[in-house]
Amino acid sequence: MAVSDADITILPDASPLIGSERRGTTSGGTHDHIYPATGRVTVAVPLAGALEVDEAITTARRALPAWRNTTADTRRRILLDIAAAVRTHAAELTALQVAENGTPSAVAAFSAGVVADSLEYYGGWVDKAGGEVHPMWPAPALDYSLREPLGVVGVIIPWNSPLYTLGSVVAPALAAGNCVVVKPPELTPFTAARFADLALAAGLPSGVLNILPGGAEAGSALVSHPGLDKIHFTGSGRTAGAILAAAAATLVPVGLELGGKSPNIVFADADIEAAVGQTVSAVLSLSGQGCINGTRVLVEDRAYDDVVERCRVALRQASVGDPALTSTVVGPVIDERSCVRILDTIDRAQENKDGTLITGGGRCQGDLAAGYFLEPTLFADVKPDADIAREEIFGPVLSIMRFGTETEALELANDTPYGLAAYVQTNDVKRAHRLAAQLDAGMVWINGFGGLPPSLPFGGVKASGVGRLGGRSGLDEFSRTKNVWLAL
Ligand code: NAD
Repeated sequence: MAVSDADITILPDASPLIGSERRGTTSGGTHDHIYPATGRVTVAVPLAGALEVDEAITTARRALPAWRNTTADTRRRILLDIAAAVRTHAAELTALQVAENGTPSAVAAFSAGVVADSLEYYGGWVDKAGGEVHPMWPAPALDYSLREPLGVVGVIIPWNSPLYTLGSVVAPALAAGNCVVVKPPELTPFTAARFADLALAAGLPSGVLNILPGGAEAGSALVSHPGLDKIHFTGSGRTAGAILAAAAATLVPVGLELGGKSPNIVFADADIEAAVGQTVSAVLSLSGQGCINGTRVLVEDRAYDDVVERCRVALRQASVGDPALTSTVVGPVIDERSCVRILDTIDRAQENKDGTLITGGGRCQGDLAAGYFLEPTLFADVKPDADIAREEIFGPVLSIMRFGTETEALELANDTPYGLAAYVQTNDVKRAHRLAAQLDAGMVWINGFGGLPPSLPFGGVKASGVGRLGGRSGLDEFSRTKNVWLAL
């Protein structure tokens, strides 16, 4: 069936938002947004450049004193009102995410709910997060600490799950009393634009949240600006290196949420049907463009052939197609460049005999040929030192390896530069906890995937990042401690 075009009538004005004013004419030029499912241009989006970055940071600094001094009940009420607006407009936000990056609508539908959850969760923290009183000696004194906001936070988000990422960073940053300048990528400007409209209408004061769609030029201007008190970056390790270099000049702290090549360890004693279900949905989620996808599957000898065959069948049956249909599981990847890069990776793996291609490996043809659709792909018998075993592919490609013992599984699992997530499938509870303690990962899921509610600390180790979003850690990420000593 032919893929329907994006509905451009729903796309909001996504030009830079500074305070409560949109800038239709900007210093960063324009970007022709392309709907990945058809390869066709939707609208031209004005992009922020260095001028808008400077104005947005100045505007945020002006809004800061009033926002950081709002009473707890006012700030909480505003966050809860934004959450309510997001819930009311959930269907619209879902449709915008489908239009901006081709996420299948059934998958995109989770983002608005999680963003509202985050705003409610952190709204609840506003009047509960305090400091501590410390014991003092030898002189009689009262010593206590205060938690205070950092100031103006520059936030850079990627295109793969733009609404979810925006909410998971902005909710704790605002709750802690910071003002924010967000740079969504030029590829996905719409959900951030609409979220900001809803936030302003719900009562967020002008200047507290500013949105600057743009590419590397705007991002680079943002992270080099001396007016920031913190940078929070979600994206690739390559860009993180450039950001750390820029931050070295201003000495601004940087939080990093980066990529992953997460192991999914399947023991023969696991519920194999459930394990395969999770394995397949993990690689197909966001068309393989998810940072926590368990794309590196390690299977115990005794279950190996069975798991490979079940994965082959499930990947072949996965419904690839029109993201607007709720029955679609796999949509397109983000752009032509990604398509070419992923297909090159697959070709190279075959040339180098890095594994056996079991299914997929090509670009979808027929009705899907104009969009950026790739066949769900499975490599088995993958060599542990191959690129497809160690490097993030960011496409619907699953690599399976075999192990004999628990020790071997752990060595293979940790043998990657990354450390974002890890998955363990076993019915041996002692083994599950042993592995959880030894895996190099910020998050370990055992026998299933529990989602990403805002109450849990989320973040990576090694090349997967620094810092934690979610839970109390999310507030700590965007606030600092001040100590106060008073002679008695
Ligand atoms: P990317 O690093 O290319 O771009 C991310 C953002 O950085 C974009 O907004 C981009 O415009 C901006 N940017 C590019 N160059 C810049 C520069 N020199 N200075 C400042 N900003 C710059 O990454 P991507 O391809 O958009 O996203 C995919 C990557 O993000 C993957 O590695 C994925 O795993 C990772 N990711 C991580 C998480 C997480 O929470 N750990 C979540 C989503 C995505």
